[in-house]
Amino acid sequence: MFIFQFLEEKINQTIMISYIPNLIFLVIFSFAIFFFTRNILKLRRIILMGRDIDRSDRKSDRIKNMIRIALGQSKMVTKPISGILHVVVYIGFIIINIELLEIVIDGILGSHRFFSKYISTSLYNFLIGFFEFFALLVLISVVIFWIRRNIVKIKRFLSAEMKGWPKMDADNILYFEIVLMLLFLSMNATDLILQNREYYNQAGFFPISSFLVPLFDSFSTESLYYMERSFWWLHIIGILFFLNYLYYSKHLHILLAFPNTYYANLEAKGKFEILESVKNEVLLMFYPEKMQDKNTSQVEKFGASDVLDLNWVQLMNAYSCTECGRCTSECPANLTGKKLSPRKIMMDTRDRLEEVSVNISKNNGVFKDDANQLLDNFISREELWACTSCNACVDACPINIDPLSIIMRMRQYLIMEESSAHSDLNNMMNNIENNGAPWPFNQQDRELWIQEP
Ligand code: SF4
Ligand code: SF4
Repeated sequence: MFIFQFLEEKINQTIMISYIPNLIFLVIFSFAIFFFTRNILKLRRIILMGRDIDRSDRKSDRIKNMIRIALGQSKMVTKPISGILHVVVYIGFIIINIELLEIVIDGILGSHRFFSKYISTSLYNFLIGFFEFFALLVLISVVIFWIRRNIVKIKRFLSAEMKGWPKMDADNILYFEIVLMLLFLSMNATDLILQNREYYNQAGFFPISSFLVPLFDSFSTESLYYMERSFWWLHIIGILFFLNYLYYSKHLHILLAFPNTYYANLEAKGKFEILESVKNEVLLMFYPEKMQDKNTSQVEKFGASDVLDLNWVQLMNAYSCTECGRCTSECPANLTGKKLSPRKIMMDTRDRLEEVSVNISKNNGVFKDDANQLLDNFISREELWACTSCNACVDACPINIDPLSIIMRMRQYLIMEESSAHSDLNNMMNNIENNGAPWPFNQQDRELWIQEP
């Protein structure tokens, strides 16, 4: 009786021990998904703190825009070298993540190459070979990206706003991708040796990782098993870590490029939006009775001095910015040595937005004045007035971000709330108001030049 009890306990213990890796995987995976979801919901809350703007029109044009620009990367290839490398990394990232599905299933069930048992051998071999091919392409592209940033030192990556965290963030992601690709290929190489030694079932075709076999071939089967498991664990933990790093990084564009292109401004460039607050003021002057019915007695703020005066699309733009600097490298103000960089406008907006969101969370959902604002503390007046409103930055942006709309909103604040514009500009506006033209001459004197000798 005692012996049976002992054996039963031993069997139960063995079953428990064999399930421990699956349980650990499930816990890590659940935590990673939980934190990722929490961050995405937080991001949504922050973006929706912006003012309302209606972008629900022209749905089919918006979908086409999203497919062409975000999915098809059509604006990336205007700079062929970085564009093609980015397309390779992007496609590789998506394709290799299909492999992730199998890794997650293996992690939960404790299986080895789950799909190999359920799809044809030739298809499975083709897929694994394809993943490996793209892993190599991604590896090469990422190394070239690193060289361009750190050795060739391309000008647009060296601006003042790219010092400190932005540079570190860009490099971190490159190191991450290099490590993840190397782990993936090393995992496959050790798996291949274990398959050849009949420790694992034959599954997969390894055209790239087979070149790494000589590095591992001299190890014992037991050591190889632990190596393969270590690469497997580090690879999946690395991916889950990357998923949660996104929120803190410019790489949020991987996700936000899609809504960003969908909700982008579809109006002709150069067409300025009529401010609702200004429209209401004018209507109030002409039709006071009608407008009072519409409850417009509360005077709205004109333009934007801080992030909460911007609309939610502008706030989403700030989080979507990839900090690529294509806008700045096309900006005529920047190219002629002015202080303005449209990339910095987007980065400043995001930094201030983060500050405001921390303030709101600390104060139970209410923003407490912190004596800081986007205007002056982050973006100077000199930068705002340097803009020629040419739209080159909007045109150059690979994901249709609109830095000009933020600049114009802040200028509207300066003019309409503070009446603070350059004296030349003030003179011109006074002339338009009084003389109907930008010049300081009375309308009645317009034809005097005819009498000049
Ligand atoms: S619109 Fe302004 S910020 Fe954009 S490129 Fe032209 S000058 Fe530069
Ligand atoms: S606004 Fe667009 S072009 Fe400019 S840095 Fe950001 S992503 Fe690049």
